[in-house]
Amino acid sequence: MSMATLIRQANVYQPEYAGVKDVLLLGGKIAAIGENLKADFGGCVDVLEIQAEGMAAVPGFIDSHEHILGGGGEGGFHTRTPEASLGDLILNGITTVIGCIGTDGVGRDMAALLAKAHALENEGITTYAYTGSYQIPVQTLTGSLRKDIMMLDKVIGVGEIAISDHRSSQPTFEEFARVAADARVAGMLSGKAGIVNVHLGDSPRKIDLIQRVIHETEIPASQFLPTHVNRNAALFDACLEFAKEGGTIDFTGNEDIDAWEAISDEVRVCKGIRRLLDLGIPSDRFTISSDGQGSLPVFDENGNYQGLGIGKASCLLKEIRECVQTEGIPLEIALKGITSNPASILKLGAKGRLQPGFDADLCLLTADTLALDTVIAKGRCMVLHGKQKVFGTFEAAGA
Ligand code: ZN
Repeated sequence: MSMATLIRQANVYQPEYAGVKDVLLLGGKIAAIGENLKADFGGCVDVLEIQAEGMAAVPGFIDSHEHILGGGGEGGFHTRTPEASLGDLILNGITTVIGCIGTDGVGRDMAALLAKAHALENEGITTYAYTGSYQIPVQTLTGSLRKDIMMLDKVIGVGEIAISDHRSSQPTFEEFARVAADARVAGMLSGKAGIVNVHLGDSPRKIDLIQRVIHETEIPASQFLPTHVNRNAALFDACLEFAKEGGTIDFTGNEDIDAWEAISDEVRVCKGIRRLLDLGIPSDRFTISSDGQGSLPVFDENGNYQGLGIGKASCLLKEIRECVQTEGIPLEIALKGITSNPASILKLGAKGRLQPGFDADLCLLTADTLALDTVIAKGRCMVLHGKQKVFGTFEAAGA
């Protein structure tokens, strides 16, 4: 029997606040948002009713940069980080994820990344991928960057191409511009974003390569989504300039920012967003991603490996909470960073908004604490009142 879900009396954020409404989900889509909705299908459809008084109903989160296949290895093979499980994502509200490869494009390749993306899709969420890794020349599946973007459904762009980092392939301006040009044309021809997801390292060269491409070629700022923009104060200043010129910048969330703030000048996400808004930069020019399962290696000033942490997908909702509770940023603005903004720059069609006709990806957050209560992906209830309902193939139910 097919299944409908009726959410009663939620504070609906599309992400714009739309008042207290019922939300009806049917056939994997948002069927209606309104008052006192009826869900009478004459017994032909099972209806799950969820009472959501006081809760916020928000679009399912989009994580635009996650190492679903694991990443890392900067300290040797035993420091390769593990793959993401379905639970790692849905228990943190993520219903759409864009997978990427990082430093190691040899031990992990596009075939494995796409296989992992298909696995998560089979398990119930929506997945996409960037082709390539840190490296130029880009290691593709089909042998051609253009072909990967045009012909592989899940591939929406290229990345994360590393610049300004001792772990990058030290691409020249010409090499970097060519990758952006290929991604742009392939995106155009296939109706995709063809985005270049750029990993920014710590070096004083900051986002110079991106700025040169925008200023010296015909490629616009909107072709790039630079990430880790908040990794240090000087880099963040440069990225704010890029955002002023029409670029979108991607903050990397950090679950352990209290510790990192003490040893670095990493910019706390909520403070960075506050600055962006205070500068009058439009609120659709930022996204927040988790870098989940990615390695967070620590190097000394000579580039010697010191140790390694791991990115956590839980940081997305934590950053939203800090935006609201610490910086007083309205929930509807903060939410854009993990819903409508990534959907729009990545051209994800029916994702990122609570609106009839869009995919039925939705989270319910508790009233005051903004804790995750319920997660629905493509109309299927994955997490109900804090309890995981759908498990990945190798996750133990009830564990
Ligand atoms: Zn990165």
